[in-house]
Amino acid sequence: MDFEFSPEDEAYRQDVRQWLSGHHPGKPPAPHGSPAWLQWAKNWQRQAYDAGYLGLGWPEAYGGVEGTLTQQVVLTQEMVRARVPGFVGQMGMRMLAPTLMRYGTEEQKQTYLKPILKAEQIWCQGYSEPNAGSDLASLQTRAEEDGDDFIVNGQKIWTSGAHYADLCFLLVRTDPDAPKHRGISYLIVDMKSPGVTVRPLRQMTGAATFNETFFDHVRVPKTNLIGELNRGWYHATTTLSYERTLLANSARTELFFEDMLDLARQGQGQRAASHPSMRQKIAQLKIETEIAKLLFYRNLTTELRGDIPGPEASIMKLYSTELNHRICGTALELMGPYAALWQDSKYVVDEGAWHYEHMFTLGLVIGGGTSQIQKNIIAERALGLPK
Ligand SMILES: Cc1cc2nc3c(=O)[nH]c(=O)nc-3n(C[C@H](O)[C@H](O)[C@H](O)COP(=O)(O)OP(=O)(O)OC[C@H]3O[C@@H](n4cnc5c(N)ncnc54)[C@H](O)[C@@H]3O)c2cc1C
Repeated sequence: MDFEFSPEDEAYRQDVRQWLSGHHPGKPPAPHGSPAWLQWAKNWQRQAYDAGYLGLGWPEAYGGVEGTLTQQVVLTQEMVRARVPGFVGQMGMRMLAPTLMRYGTEEQKQTYLKPILKAEQIWCQGYSEPNAGSDLASLQTRAEEDGDDFIVNGQKIWTSGAHYADLCFLLVRTDPDAPKHRGISYLIVDMKSPGVTVRPLRQMTGAATFNETFFDHVRVPKTNLIGELNRGWYHATTTLSYERTLLANSARTELFFEDMLDLARQGQGQRAASHPSMRQKIAQLKIETEIAKLLFYRNLTTELRGDIPGPEASIMKLYSTELNHRICGTALELMGPYAALWQDSKYVVDEGAWHYEHMFTLGLVIGGGTSQIQKNIIAERALGLPK
């Protein structure tokens, strides 16, 4: 098997690398989600768009440029390597856009795809509810038909970025009498509509990147329906498989591992790594990092063949997100007593980045479908085991 990138892709890598070295945006202003941060994040995405790095392989009519999926992967790898933050519009670009291209009307594609790339419109994902997370199909947010509109009532939760998003791709129940998977529709909702209320939720990292989102008699034009009425569940699962691919970025895992290894080679970390059990643990993590990379390439192959990632996306998401969390945990172990220090201490290692990542990576084990749910999918769909 050949896992090398083609000479064209490698040439593209050099091009991206050079561009990033001349246009590195530096550190984003804190706190995450503030108006200054949002403007910075939009400017950065816009710069990348203007330089022709976004919308690779999308039709030109929707703002796309010529390019391949492997070039998209190369771009992500190089951004991670250069320690550049991900794009603020990635939920729109990587999750909604593929769904819209498959199921959206021509008018929807014309209206939304280019502003997604240019960071003119930021999207959030309105799926989870207080009583519908893993069992998403039990969702109860209702949309009732009223002339040319739907009237939406209900509550979503854990809506990442809802506090700055312009639009939401929202799952709603449109037929309460149908079996639960068959009564769901997929809507586009303007977050500035009267009746939408967003309340931030603070996470254990201290940041507030996700929210409770309330819909109280929100009027949504019927032209904002994506795909067929009551077929939203099937469209939503397309979005979810792309979300798993987004969350399982093997370049991120490799960088976590390299940074953790640096810790093991110096100071307190070197003392800890002189113990055989710690050395074996690190060697094991190296093996797992390689496996994560191969799982990522397998998933990429599925996408290159034009197929939607299936259970292989679940295997990759489960494996990579848990591995990222373990690598960050090992970094904390290497610090020994320094792991007890928080960001406000002048002795804290790496400005407290490992503490933050250890908590944040746990969130990604849960977000996009928990590990237990991924295992259920693998058992049923890949292995054919009974439910
Ligand atoms: C960082 C982060 C960002 C997120 N962003 C978004 C977002 O932007 N939009 C959005 O809609 N949602 C978002 N979510 C929500 C996420 O999709 C849900 O948290 C996730 O699907 C789990 O649902 P839940 O929290 O309701 O947990 P529950 O479904 O209540 O699960 C609780 C526990 O029970 C286990 N469990 C549940 N059912 C089963 C089963 N059948 N078999 C075995 N075990 C089971 C779960 O694995 C879990 O351990 C985000 C979550 C996180 C952590």
